[in-house]
Amino acid sequence: MDAPGWFRRYETKLVWEMRKLSRKKRFSRNWQKQKARIQRLHAHIANARRDFLHKTSTAISKTHAMVFVEELRIQKMSKSAKGTKENPGKNVRAKSGLNKAILDQGWFTFQTFLGYKLHWSGGWLGTVPAPYTSQTCPVPECGHVSQANRPTQSKFRCEQCRYEGNADTVGAMNILRAGLARIACSPV
Ligand SMILES: [Zn+2]
Repeated sequence: MDAPGWFRRYETKLVWEMRKLSRKKRFSRNWQKQKARIQRLHAHIANARRDFLHKTSTAISKTHAMVFVEELRIQKMSKSAKGTKENPGKNVRAKSGLNKAILDQGWFTFQTFLGYKLHWSGGWLGTVPAPYTSQTCPVPECGHVSQANRPTQSKFRCEQCRYEGNADTVGAMNILRAGLARIACSPV
């Protein structure tokens, strides 16, 4: 299920093929051939991604009845990288690399697939507006929120209670808790 891994392999190949194209005489027969090869590669990548998203969403919908995801995460992150004309985004390159990884995994498409598959099987996909999911301590008695709880991209360590864990896992725990709290106090 390692999407970024296989995408990177395709990406390397794509860069390689495009470099080859740039060395050919524009509009020549060989250039046309190379161009067609690149188009096929693009189509292949799109198919492979779709296939991956279908398999993953099917697997999850078969083993879960209720799933929560963070609301509008992709849109926000994509926007923040670009910035505006007057106020260009900071760390644009780093962010666009991250965005690219997220978008390439087709998070939005994935949510759509997962949503209707859960629906088919009588389950449900819920969204949670969760601004600090990756900075909040998941220990119920603690719940300390701080940027310092995230010493690295992948690591979570609570400043106060010293709880340690994988940052993605912590994010998921917080999303689940927020989702359950949401349905507990509002009729679905
Ligand atoms: Zn804590």
